[in-house]
Amino acid sequence: DAPTLPISPAGRSDLTHHLHPYTQLRQLEREGPLVIVRGDGVNVFDEHGNGYIEGMAGLWCASLGFSEKRLADAAYRQMTTLPYYHSFSGKVPGPVAALVDKLIEWAPVPMGRVLFANSGSEANDTAFKLVRYYNNARGRPLKKKIIARNKGYHGVTMAAASLSGLPMMHQHFDLPLPDVVRVSCPHFYQFGLPGETEAQFVDRLAQELEDTIQREGPETVAAFIAEPVQGAGGVVVPPAGYFAKVQAILKKHDILLIADEVITGFGRLGQPFGTQVFDLKPDMITVAKMLTSAYVPMSALYVSDQIYQAVADASAAVGVFGHGYTYSGHPLACAVALETLRIYEDDRIVDHVREVAPRLQDGLRKFASHPLVGQARGLGLIGALELAADPAQRKPFEPARGVGAYFVRRAQAHGLIVRVLGGDIIAFSPPLVITEAEIDAMLARTELALADTW
Ligand code: PLP
Repeated sequence: DAPTLPISPAGRSDLTHHLHPYTQLRQLEREGPLVIVRGDGVNVFDEHGNGYIEGMAGLWCASLGFSEKRLADAAYRQMTTLPYYHSFSGKVPGPVAALVDKLIEWAPVPMGRVLFANSGSEANDTAFKLVRYYNNARGRPLKKKIIARNKGYHGVTMAAASLSGLPMMHQHFDLPLPDVVRVSCPHFYQFGLPGETEAQFVDRLAQELEDTIQREGPETVAAFIAEPVQGAGGVVVPPAGYFAKVQAILKKHDILLIADEVITGFGRLGQPFGTQVFDLKPDMITVAKMLTSAYVPMSALYVSDQIYQAVADASAAVGVFGHGYTYSGHPLACAVALETLRIYEDDRIVDHVREVAPRLQDGLRKFASHPLVGQARGLGLIGALELAADPAQRKPFEPARGVGAYFVRRAQAHGLIVRVLGGDIIAFSPPLVITEAEIDAMLARTELALADTW
């Protein structure tokens, strides 16, 4: 039941020469790509003129939709003033200053410094490296392991993919790297045991974390990395009390917390960061995506002053802090990021998310009684429908049936782009500027696609 759009010359070139990321490659060869050529508000349009509500804001990122002129103007001004400069050897492009000030102002907990990169993967890769640098600097060369969770998603570079807990990211790549230790995913719906309460589930996961640290040796465990709400792993909102228990254990063993806020940073959950929602005390925070509304690539790693001071001391002995990207703090990205944050402030975007989120969350939960839906969940402007063969028993469909993928194709035919995650989980993460009327339209198209799938 693939969409029967003709394959255009652009699609043909794509099929011939483009190695698509995160795609079923053989299926793509049969069906051809959806070529998107234009955006307007929360909508995108394909080359044939068909419009779609972008229910995922692209990849959880185009927070201001697809036609924010202020960002285009900011980019143009910067491109015609200073299109490129770098931050190596004590130089810095002018626009970095205002952006770092603004980012420190937005920081959900006191942070010392900001290091720039170009993608969420690079930011997490940098965090991985800095954990090592920091503990070497403090004379604790054994304390290097990072605990990461099943179904976590932290990106695709060697280190970030190693931290991620999705099997397809490791198979055939000979990953994960050493020094990554895995613990359970806090998805009660899937992993709660029969008869177990949510509180008992949280206790069991906390005990598992404690046991894991004891098994590895607390002197070898350096950090714990977590998305406040797991995104690509299935939109997993942690159960009440989960992070409080986790953080108490980390504190006891002097283990750093890295908050991966690549999806949750800048308002998606109805607070500026997930850190505020779950009362986290991170030592490092990674951000990307909505930092620039995804109009240009940019990511950043916040580090605490304590980490910065240790790194600065240690690098003094080497001479130079040996890390950085050609495009760290790229002026174009800085200008667009700064303008993005100003728009968030001017338009009170985080308040807007809080105001419209109930429309999405209530709407999704109305589908919970649909015979295809095992669970409807979410927080703020992120949500999911987890499809199930037998909702009462929380029994998933056989993966080979591709029920979630079928739903996504039907949604697309009805003018809605959403994404299927492993386990037939349909994810929703629209632009933050979405209105209640647009949320209603998104839900109406969801209902049509559910009916088609049923
Ligand atoms: N961290 C999280 C939580 C993400 O969702 C993603 C991407 O989806 C990344 C990291 C990786 O970001 P990028 O794709 O920009 O490398």
